[in-house]
Amino acid sequence: MTEAKTSSDAENASSDVFQITKILIAYDGSQHAMKAFTAAKDLAKKYHAELVVLTAVEASPPYFLPQVPPGDEPDNRGYETDKDRKELTELVRLAKADGIDARAEVLDEGGPAIKQILDYAEQGGFDLIVAGTRGLGGFSKMLLGSVSSSLVSRVHCPVLVVR
Ligand code: ATP
Ligand code: MG
Repeated sequence: MTEAKTSSDAENASSDVFQITKILIAYDGSQHAMKAFTAAKDLAKKYHAELVVLTAVEASPPYFLPQVPPGDEPDNRGYETDKDRKELTELVRLAKADGIDARAEVLDEGGPAIKQILDYAEQGGFDLIVAGTRGLGGFSKMLLGSVSSSLVSRVHCPVLVVR
């Protein structure tokens, strides 16, 4: 009797702590991120959660100095953003076909991708953030890339890093 009460208390306590209603998947176009997207989509379906597929367009450093005179900037950033948006639209279509409430977000606010992702995640009220172990960088021998390791150490909510 006491045991039954204890286990039901434990169930209630755990569902209060970890409810997944809003998931953020950080997507950089890499195969790692694609794997993470599939995991995020499966979780969103299982928990009937909203899914936001996010790409942050990384500006070239130094972020604080104009590298060319104002007005002469090449228009690559717009092109990249359009390409990113198309890719994300396709992922959102896949998620919606699975019955998930999904939408895409492309951030192009300048500065490092990780800062844009962290700011967005803080404001968005997400219950879970999903990312790949590595991304498009791929040169270092580190197990985790700089974006995924910063997410794990700095974000307010649980992070799932998909290997
Ligand atoms: P680094 O960028 O440090 O050289 P890397 O590219 O191998 O290394 P990360 O950039 O940390 O590794 O990528 C790990 C994961 O972080 C990706 O699989 C993706 O989920 C997410 N991510 C990385 N960059 C972005 C980005 N610009 N926008 C959204 N998500 C990103
Ligand atoms: Mg990277």
